[in-house]
Amino acid sequence: MSGKQLPVHNTQSSRKCGSCTACCVTLEIPELSKGRNTECIHLKKRRGCGIYNERPSACRGFSCLWADRYLPSSLRPDRSGLMAYFVEHAELGPSILVTELRPGVISRSSQTKNKILSLSRQQNKPVIFVEHESEQASIAIPE
Ligand code: SF4
Ligand code: SF4
Repeated sequence: MSGKQLPVHNTQSSRKCGSCTACCVTLEIPELSKGRNTECIHLKKRRGCGIYNERPSACRGFSCLWADRYLPSSLRPDRSGLMAYFVEHAELGPSILVTELRPGVISRSSQTKNKILSLSRQQNKPVIFVEHESEQASIAIPE
């Protein structure tokens, strides 16, 4: 897929992340020179962020669509295997990016995929599905 996408920051997160740490692995955090799909060096087992009070603004501002209650409780990213968030895409504009945390989750779970497509229609935003640890993506435009 060509075109860059940047997470849209939102500090209104209303669900507690609990033991999910998906974004601390999945996201690129330039302030930490952390690449995508690489566990952050500050992530501590069972304790979460080791620099919580000093974490960079990219971390402070991020919340996924599950944390913001756009998706049902059952779809917490570490449980569903999918992490979804709003992005500003260079070509598509405001979009929903869905990234696989485990291989094959998107193709295996039509129920989950349908929930995301339904959200896409409600929000009138295209969805970019990105395969596990890959640049391979497919795009669904709401009708
Ligand atoms: S992916 Fe969502 S639920 Fe998981 S830690 Fe990040 S913001 Fe919290
Ligand atoms: S600095 Fe903390 S919040 Fe940010 S990616 Fe690392 S562990 Fe996660």
